[in-house]
Amino acid sequence: MLYVSTRGHADRKQFCEILLEGLAPDGGLYLPERYPEVDAATLEQWRALPYADLAFAILSLFIDDIPADDLRAICRKTYTEQVFGTREIVSLKKLEDAPGSAQAPLYLEALSNGPTLAFKDMAMQLLGNLFEYELARRGEQLNILGATSGDTGSAAEYAMRGKHGVRVFMTSPHGRMSPFQQAQMFSLLDANIHNLALEGVFDDCQDIVKAVSSDAAFKRRYRIGTVNSINWARLMAQVVYYFAGYFQATNAAPTLAAKAPSRPTVSFAVPSGNFGNICAGHVARMMGLPIERLVLATNENDVLDEFFRTGVYRVRAAADTHETSSPSMDISKASNFERFVFDLLGRDGDRVKSLFGEQLAGSGRFDLSADPAFRNARERFGFVSGKSTHADRLATIRDTFGRFGIVIDTHTADGLKVAREQRQPGVPMIVLETALPIKFAATIVEALGREPDRPARFEGLEQLPRRVTVLPPDVEAVKSFIAAHCG
Ligand SMILES: *Cc1c(COP(=O)(O)O)cnc(C)c1O
Repeated sequence: MLYVSTRGHADRKQFCEILLEGLAPDGGLYLPERYPEVDAATLEQWRALPYADLAFAILSLFIDDIPADDLRAICRKTYTEQVFGTREIVSLKKLEDAPGSAQAPLYLEALSNGPTLAFKDMAMQLLGNLFEYELARRGEQLNILGATSGDTGSAAEYAMRGKHGVRVFMTSPHGRMSPFQQAQMFSLLDANIHNLALEGVFDDCQDIVKAVSSDAAFKRRYRIGTVNSINWARLMAQVVYYFAGYFQATNAAPTLAAKAPSRPTVSFAVPSGNFGNICAGHVARMMGLPIERLVLATNENDVLDEFFRTGVYRVRAAADTHETSSPSMDISKASNFERFVFDLLGRDGDRVKSLFGEQLAGSGRFDLSADPAFRNARERFGFVSGKSTHADRLATIRDTFGRFGIVIDTHTADGLKVAREQRQPGVPMIVLETALPIKFAATIVEALGREPDRPARFEGLEQLPRRVTVLPPDVEAVKSFIAAHCG
């Protein structure tokens, strides 16, 4: 399998070449040159596989340049009960069953039982092992520089801690992450993990990371890399849990097979920000997984809901980006969206280049409403969308606790609210649970008047010793810190 750029002007590359790269040289994002197709017989064979072996079966369709035994070992080392808390790795919880009615069940798929309690661990843990493997093979080192407002940075640090050949320099806005998130990151004492709390806001962190990365000489000298959400390997790892969720939902509902003798289908609802998670669902569907609808849920930052309703993609200014109680979805533009638009437009790289290059740079928007391709978004690709507000989140959290005794996090609540609007008779709906409520305790207290449960291994987290360096929001300060710690 070779990889191409969404802007059509980069060389085709093997997986391990793009693994350590960010954007393609033409400014586009990498995608496989075609989606491997999985037929019904293969799908049924996969049903019985443990998660790690399912991951190997799927990943090996996308990766030619890692020997099969090595790749299988990497998958088995990554997806263990010890790291993810259950034997299934991702398990389904049924929320609604209306026997005798046409309504098929509604499920939560638990993706948040990894080390940092958000779904980003599902991909980042694999990335850590892939990086270590590939860097050792090349005899190289990599210094990962990133900016985080919470979930991504901690998932990256827990994936890279103690790994050979990798150091992490993670900037975050000083004092602005939730207390739990700060404790989670700053209590890591591993020698290869460096927390830099910058006296500024998240945008300052991001600007500084960009400035350091665009200094080509510095970047080369200190072997600077990233783990951001446009990395194809992260997206690929997320494809696996769509298959795993499908198998569990269709195992549990034998009557569905009778209703739809061909192949049962399911829908997924995905709390979305940068379009990484749901893009993995799109890839799974393109591979032939019987997904009826991909339900995209946003919070008040509704860039993507607006596109799927109107065909207009309009990037927001920083001042128009709301700070919400589902903060990991507070985005002004969706960095993975270009991948979907590439497929939507029949993989026309020049058109993608003009939309995401010239048009967004010029007017901050593009309009596909008159394009027949836009109608395909629903009919051919299964996408529908909706949005959710702070009041919706509170109501959904209360309702779910009241009826099922389950406390859900704020992002999952956005997904569940929109999922309910998009259910269809006979089609099970799987809502992806993207974080555990303990990470966003203040809103849970607001909704329920009580603290969310804390998994036992996080007792006393806030009292642990911390390692963090506070720096001014200044490019030179960050550069000299990196230089001093790359021995
Ligand atoms: C990152 C994140 C999201 C958004 O996922 P995307 O892949 O950026 O669409 C949603 N919920 C939580 C809890 C997250 O950490």
